[in-house]
Amino acid sequence: MRTIYMDNNATTAVDPDVLEEMLPLLKELYGNPSSMHTFGGQVGKHVALARERVAKALGAQPEEIIFTSCGTESDNTAIMSALQAQPEKKHIVTTRVEHPAVLNLVQHLEKKGYEATYLNVDEKGRLDLEELKNALRKDTAIVSIMFANNETGTIFPIKEIGEIVKEKGILFHTDAVQAVGKEPINVQELPVDYLALSGHKLHGPKGVGALYVRRGTPFRPFLRGGHQERGRRAGTENVASIVALGKACELASLNMKAERTTVKALRDRLEDGLLKAIPDAIVNGDTDNRLPNTTNIAFKYVEGEAILLLMDGHGICASSGSACTSGSLEPSHVLRAMGVPFTYAHGSIRFSLSRFTTQADVDFVVDELPRIIKRLREISPYRNEAAEKPACTC
Ligand code: PLP
Repeated sequence: MRTIYMDNNATTAVDPDVLEEMLPLLKELYGNPSSMHTFGGQVGKHVALARERVAKALGAQPEEIIFTSCGTESDNTAIMSALQAQPEKKHIVTTRVEHPAVLNLVQHLEKKGYEATYLNVDEKGRLDLEELKNALRKDTAIVSIMFANNETGTIFPIKEIGEIVKEKGILFHTDAVQAVGKEPINVQELPVDYLALSGHKLHGPKGVGALYVRRGTPFRPFLRGGHQERGRRAGTENVASIVALGKACELASLNMKAERTTVKALRDRLEDGLLKAIPDAIVNGDTDNRLPNTTNIAFKYVEGEAILLLMDGHGICASSGSACTSGSLEPSHVLRAMGVPFTYAHGSIRFSLSRFTTQADVDFVVDELPRIIKRLREISPYRNEAAEKPACTC
């Protein structure tokens, strides 16, 4: 059975060209880039090239790039750096729909004495910029708002947001983990101070990320130890993965224009095909302003987990918008924040495509899924409208 992989917002396949570039660093080029000898120095040159490539993909300077272990570390580093650099400021602004890499940190910080404002979103997952303006205070240390949502693909107006935040002289971080490689990004035109990205979302390996820190922005290291990354992130570099991230960024930039057309066309074919074949299905998120590879579709009256299970039986990989909490299937925090009705939210599936998705993959899903949904609806306990509200929300 072949695997049809439509879960690229969870992780992507390493591009063969990326793999080829990283392999020598795992084989013969195993020196430590901090070593004084030529052998280590050779490796250092590869790290320097990777830094240049990542910087170029963002319109940044190489010195503004810090390599990290993942998107989560980049997000945590940015927020903690802003807080440590301004100890007198105890307020954080973020949104209700951030990835846990930001949300769980901010919730943790609230327990440590910080105050947080979580901005709401409307039914399409959009922010109200007036609410943002009203949330900013004299003691706001940082605003952290994602570039694009991982579940719905909804894109936030980062330029406008940044202008509002910077006008007040507040530090601004954007979690661009889902956007880098999919959306054109140029930090020279974006008023952001920190920007996080992750290798495995753009056909690089897992376990490597980067944080862009605009020159002159206050910075305090998250990991302390050796002097790697100019003292901004201690620990011997994950050299092979850093090199891979550099190549992945280069490929993403080279292919972005074409992929934004081809991947979007496949996503639209999938979405249109499913909506045509399956009654009572709606798209979650802002369809006018969305990542080109993502569609989040709610199938009324069915459980997302049941859909995933049956799709898995046909080799189709996607992801649901529910999280199993203490026995009850709670819709995701993103769909809840958007106010998606219970009978839809529970049956929400995220399909996320990539440069490796084919038309045959899309057509296979459009052919199989209507039968799966029909089967599940025949046995669904939610068929009855009275079950509009969850029995248990514990
Ligand atoms: N931020 C967003 C929006 C994400 O989608 C993810 C991963 O799913 C992360 C942060 C965390 O990235 P990583 O898995 O590299 O820690």
